[in-house]
Amino acid sequence: MISFEEAISRVTQTARVLGTESVDFQQSLGRVLAQDIRSDMDMPPFDKSTMDGYACKSEDLPNHLEIIEIIPAGHFPKKEIGKNQCAKIMTGAPVPLGADTVIMVEHTEILSDGKIRFTKEKSKPNISKRAEDVHFGDIVLAKGTRISAKHIPVFAGVGATKIEVFKRPTVAVISTGDELVEPNIQPNNSQIRNTNAYQLLAALAELNIETNYIGIAKDTKQCTSDFILKALQSADIILLSGAVSKGDYDFVPEVLKDFGIEILFHGIQVKPGQHTIFGTSDKKWFFGVPGNPVSAFVQFEFLIKPLIFKIMGRNYDEKYLRLPLGEDFVRREASRKSFEPIIINSEGYVHRIPYNGSAHINALSYADGFMVFEKGITQLSKNQLVDVRQI
Ligand code: AMP
Ligand code: MG
Repeated sequence: MISFEEAISRVTQTARVLGTESVDFQQSLGRVLAQDIRSDMDMPPFDKSTMDGYACKSEDLPNHLEIIEIIPAGHFPKKEIGKNQCAKIMTGAPVPLGADTVIMVEHTEILSDGKIRFTKEKSKPNISKRAEDVHFGDIVLAKGTRISAKHIPVFAGVGATKIEVFKRPTVAVISTGDELVEPNIQPNNSQIRNTNAYQLLAALAELNIETNYIGIAKDTKQCTSDFILKALQSADIILLSGAVSKGDYDFVPEVLKDFGIEILFHGIQVKPGQHTIFGTSDKKWFFGVPGNPVSAFVQFEFLIKPLIFKIMGRNYDEKYLRLPLGEDFVRREASRKSFEPIIINSEGYVHRIPYNGSAHINALSYADGFMVFEKGITQLSKNQLVDVRQI
């Protein structure tokens, strides 16, 4: 069996991008930019008032000022400010020529002759200078950026309504097992509900990936083979759960060989998920993850996502947090790297949660993340720093 790091390296080495396509910026969440985005204007595009008030010359602040114009946002000033003059100005409006300061309306008084007077000693300029945020032609988002909600206003601001992104792989999902029924069915006394397919489909949806759910394959070589063929015809990546351990009904490795998929590993020194299998041909990628739902979850999160990201044009760079343990952690066996579900308390300390092993999917619903137990380590002490990935 290979180490988990070796598994990630073998998987990601097979990645290749699938080309690029143009999408509407509003449909681009989770996609990776295949071009630099440059600004088509200065930002702000003019010297802009940041306050409602009066634009004037700072040297005239002690004097009574005549109002020569009103400048609402969206209107360009018609007049230049002269000695002892001002213009009433709204937040976001262009500052008129001749003015270097906007005094806040709250710091002024209107006099009986219609002029105004500044009631304080000093004023900040309250002006955003043209191009102080961005210059025309600046790169505002670089190629390789993975797009999230915070990037959408940047596209909007520079008018980049069509953007070039890397193509996404399509992913087919298969569950296997004679014991499985779909969630809308009442299981009989030997059945359980299929949870893995829905977990994987949801995790893919979070990445804005198109999916194709093939269904539950029976534990026969024929059925498993038929389902894998259907998946290969409809997707770039195939995720199959169950039937990869060394049980009597586990045909997957044989079937893969029949379809010309070269198996790059079967078995990883990791917990949960040690029977994970990975194979590839020149066009397809295949993952078989153990049926236990936490195994499927962990392998998707830590092994499969890095491949999907790389195919989509970006190295997987989700961060591990280095956090202190709130209690001792001990395990009997250390032959594998393991991922333990944990919670993070409000002081940032890591605590254990009730967890009965890789079938216990409900434990994840209140976990904040997974903590890494490196291979060879049986004991971690309170206050020691550990790697944590939030989920
Ligand atoms: P397997 O890897 O097929 O040997 O399955 C390991 C365990 O996971 C068994 O207890 C299965 O019943 C369970 N299991 C397999 N597939 C699923 C699934 N899609 N949803 C929930 N549990 C599953
Ligand atoms: Mg099974």
